[in-house]
Amino acid sequence: MPVIPGSFAYHRPDSLTQAVALLADLGEEARPLAGGHSLIPMMKLRLATPEHLVDLAGIVDLKGIRTDGSDIVIGAMTTQHELVGSDLVAAKVPILRETSLLIADPQVRYVGTLGGNVANGDPGNDMPAVMLCLGASYDVTGKSGERRIAAREFYQGAYFTALEPGEILTAVRIPVPAAGHGYAYEKLKRKIGDYATAAAAVVLTVSGDTIATCSIGLTNLAETPLWAEEAAKILVGSAPDAATVKKAVAAAEAITAPASDGRGPAHYRTKMAGVMLARALARAQARARA
Ligand SMILES: Cc1cc2nc3c(=O)[nH]c(=O)nc-3n(C[C@H](O)[C@H](O)[C@H](O)COP(=O)(O)OP(=O)(O)OC[C@H]3O[C@@H](n4cnc5c(N)ncnc54)[C@H](O)[C@@H]3O)c2cc1C
Repeated sequence: MPVIPGSFAYHRPDSLTQAVALLADLGEEARPLAGGHSLIPMMKLRLATPEHLVDLAGIVDLKGIRTDGSDIVIGAMTTQHELVGSDLVAAKVPILRETSLLIADPQVRYVGTLGGNVANGDPGNDMPAVMLCLGASYDVTGKSGERRIAAREFYQGAYFTALEPGEILTAVRIPVPAAGHGYAYEKLKRKIGDYATAAAAVVLTVSGDTIATCSIGLTNLAETPLWAEEAAKILVGSAPDAATVKKAVAAAEAITAPASDGRGPAHYRTKMAGVMLARALARAQARARA
């Protein structure tokens, strides 16, 4: 099995305009390069053989974390390590910090970017389900201009997304959840640094004993990340007892379609999705009531 990528030309534009123009000129054999921690391993295995890599690392406009009205806007080239260290993220969208800390190991997080993680389309990536859970959207720029795509409409299949050839994801835009919300990302993995066998993201608010709002995302349980809308609906308006949680868990399990692979047979992974969801719900509620 080859472990050396095929040959390619390397380009390092220093503006978004240049990067978009390069990708348009070079055509379908060109790919953006972010942290390289998904793309380079794929190239080493010859599962990706781009003839041109357009490195986004020199484009300063793609970095940074800021608020914009009621949204938090995170530049695509912001690393997972920078998410872990951001006071703004910790204060406004703490589930991003919790999730980042469960991605791989520090070495990967130092260079792996949020934009690369969500644009990649790998069902094993952790951030996409969190973005579905949060109702995030992605700002993209290509030769036809700029557009904004809801994360819930972005993922079409394993490694297939709504990105058109040559488009660059520039930023992730997240509506800041209500102050005092509860959150949790629960991830079952075989060892530190592994992708999820099953994982669940929960963001909710409570009013007294009752769950007032709830959103749920699931990782690595189908060809795309999943937004478990029906499961969340079962919980909203309830002071969830064991029977209600069981019903919500069953609704979430019902939309999963995981592969049987080295992480376990499909029915096991589906059941683990339910276990992760029940744990995430318990932890999110405890945080919201604290
Ligand atoms: C050992 C190891 C363990 C890992 N474990 C996990 C894990 O547990 N959970 C997890 O979520 N991830 C994991 N990863 C993946 C890691 O988080 C990657 O860094 C991430 O998936 C991709 O981000 P990147 O910046 O490295 O993107 P790259 O590898 O550079 O790019 C990935 C893909 O996205 C495209 N792309 C990148 N940026 C953009 C953009 N701005 N616009 C358009 N297209 C773009 C590229 O063309 C490429 O097709 C692991 C990686 C390794 C090596």
